[in-house]
Amino acid sequence: MTHRPCRDFRWDGVPVRAYKDGEGPYRGVTRHTLFEASGALPAEWRYFEVEPAGHTTLERHAHVHNVLVLRGTGRALVGDRVHAIGRNDLVHVPPMTWHQFRAGDAPLGFLCLVADDRDRPQLPTPDDIEALRALPAVADFIRT
Ligand code: MN
Repeated sequence: MTHRPCRDFRWDGVPVRAYKDGEGPYRGVTRHTLFEASGALPAEWRYFEVEPAGHTTLERHAHVHNVLVLRGTGRALVGDRVHAIGRNDLVHVPPMTWHQFRAGDAPLGFLCLVADDRDRPQLPTPDDIEALRALPAVADFIRT
């Protein structure tokens, strides 16, 4: 497909899917795979949309994310910091770094670029959660 027109953050021929197949807690997130990986470009380019008050899964993994916010505002945990994010902001998630995205009072939509060949996300253990909660800003933010 050479051209997929977009209206209101929905692309022709791109299905709106559940964010994950039941792995890990999340709330109100959809996944849209805009570009599938290919031999010539072994990366997937996805659009995720988090509904107001929704959140992605708190997780970490060896692969990285490069994120560009397209709509809305929200906050993102990356490592031990919570960042206020908004339209056109960039967010880089390094390897093995805890991360979670939460929407504000409007849908938060962002592009996320990942390698096709990637490891499975790890969920936090009770010890990990305790360590994350040592920082008050992180404790208030995370949803598990
Ligand atoms: Mn991730």
